[in-house]
Amino acid sequence: MKLIRQSAEWNPFWLNHLRNNQQIGLVPTMGALHDGHLDLVSKSRSSCGVTIVSIFVNPTQFNNLEDFQKYPNTLDQDLKRLEQAGVEYVFLPSVEEIYPTPTQLKFDFGELEHVLEGKFRPGHFNGVGVVVSKLFHLIRPHIAFFGQKDLQQVAIIKRLVNDLSFDLKLEVVPTRRESDGLAMSSRNLRLNKEDREKALILFNCLTTAKAELFAGKNWLETQRKIELEFQSDPTAKLEYFDLIHPDTFETYTTFDPSQKSSICVAAFIGDIRLIDNMPIIS
Ligand code: AMP
Repeated sequence: MKLIRQSAEWNPFWLNHLRNNQQIGLVPTMGALHDGHLDLVSKSRSSCGVTIVSIFVNPTQFNNLEDFQKYPNTLDQDLKRLEQAGVEYVFLPSVEEIYPTPTQLKFDFGELEHVLEGKFRPGHFNGVGVVVSKLFHLIRPHIAFFGQKDLQQVAIIKRLVNDLSFDLKLEVVPTRRESDGLAMSSRNLRLNKEDREKALILFNCLTTAKAELFAGKNWLETQRKIELEFQSDPTAKLEYFDLIHPDTFETYTTFDPSQKSSICVAAFIGDIRLIDNMPIIS
């Protein structure tokens, strides 16, 4: 496995793989890797001749300094796991490599960045758009792999690829969960034992709400019930619990089984902000 710290080092490898007609798969990550990340890696390994995983904690997508500073770093272990998974390259750029000068350009993703994550994390999707565009330009993959866990990020990146005509395919990989249902996330490492148990409230609310929708219950009543459940727990602070269209992120007030839909949730458990989502109609 080769470690690439400067994008110029990648260029001869890229050319070589292109000449050998090998498809290049890119898996962008911020490290602190778990089995969900490794699902993206194995999808890339089965679809592409060569896989490059990037590990870069992108400062411009954090709207909360403490979240950035405390973002878990398990680099030695990450590299071991990637080597064991058979990954050919890891791109480990410095902040200076990605941002030699501060980026002036701003993206406007329209309504997508004003709801849910966009509303609660101002500037987040601009940072995502900038870093993902840079990774696409520097690595030039044929296929890029992203997790359904970050559903709104997937919608943003689809828009980016479409609007800017990036010549690549996107693959979306289902969410990997712990055995009790909690969605795997690097931030789970920051939960203490008690909060780790409390964090199950996200998954439990998603499954309850899904069952209620299929039982014909009124969506707004279900949403209200879940909001009250969060209010009764002082360590859990709900930011949103919404039924949305998974491409446009239009929020629904009623459930229509003929329309695509997902439920998305974001909540603080103690100091740690977690998100999750569940497809209802795909
Ligand atoms: P991150 O390192 O959190 O930026 O995540 C890197 C990629 O892994 C993103 O495309 C995420 O959506 C994806 N990912 C994160 N958690 C999971 C999970 N539990 N299951 C599948 N993919 C995930």
